[in-house]
Amino acid sequence: MPETASYRKVDLHTHSTRSDGHFSPADLVDLAVEQGVTLFSLTDHDTLDGIAEASSRAAEQGLSFVNGVELSTQWNGIPLHMVALNFSQDNEALQAIVRGNQAIRLDRARRIADLLVKQGLPDLFDDAVTLAGESQLGRPHFASLLVEKGFVKDANKAFDRYLGNKRLGQLRDVWPELESVLTSLADQNMELVLAHPKRYPLTVTKLKRLLGDFKKWGGTGLEVVSGNERPDSVRLLERLSQEFGLKASVGSDYHGPFGPWMQVGKFTQIHESEVDLVWQSWA
Ligand code: AMP
Ligand code: MN
Ligand code: MN
Ligand code: MN
Repeated sequence: MPETASYRKVDLHTHSTRSDGHFSPADLVDLAVEQGVTLFSLTDHDTLDGIAEASSRAAEQGLSFVNGVELSTQWNGIPLHMVALNFSQDNEALQAIVRGNQAIRLDRARRIADLLVKQGLPDLFDDAVTLAGESQLGRPHFASLLVEKGFVKDANKAFDRYLGNKRLGQLRDVWPELESVLTSLADQNMELVLAHPKRYPLTVTKLKRLLGDFKKWGGTGLEVVSGNERPDSVRLLERLSQEFGLKASVGSDYHGPFGPWMQVGKFTQIHESEVDLVWQSWA
């Protein structure tokens, strides 16, 4: 795919070592500043742990920082990610969802290890827990181990052959329902954004059904760009954000220098004047 991304000042979707990113929260903030970002959110998977470190470094650096988290959910059996932004860390409903998803991650990891054992691989559970350390345990940890132990050439192959949604069977459906997550967080002073909508196995018709549900259950935003998105996809998502009354959000989904990720602060340009921006009301 030709690269259509360039550098932007706002990045509202990034990962640190507290989930599956490469840099510590403070180093990630430093990198964002180096790249010219002026409004930033750390959105680790199912954890608020990195926020304190990132926000205090951002304050030192004069970078505007908003609290963020990427929550794992499911809709009609399809795993979906949503990004909550600009919340108070004291929010109890959010804390409960995060705690629940962390318990699911541990249980799911045990079951993923069992699934791999059935396919003739060694039991990787203990190694995965050790590798994850303080970070949220997930499939990328299993992918790293499969690469390190020589079972696959790279992480992408690990997902293709063992860890992708198609390979996980019932383990796809472990996450809380989108409806319950949205309704418990709706009207609680935060933005609720559907993450990277083009990364799900959905036709446009189905995506519209999802957006209808997302809005109805209290969602407020849509990521109209995620990294190196095709310009025509961005166009479509901008139109859908207007059609469904969901504010436009943007992000690189940066995880680190390895793999398919764009640099922090880098993604395909959007048409800012033609959409309502999620950060417009934050000033
Ligand atoms: P989990 O949160 O455990 O479900 O793992 C999902 C994470 O795996 C995503 O957030 C990505 O960071 C990563 N991931 C998904 N697909 C791939 C892939 N094909 N290659 C490398 N990393 C991937
Ligand atoms: Mn990730
Ligand atoms: Mn995601
Ligand atoms: Mn992400």
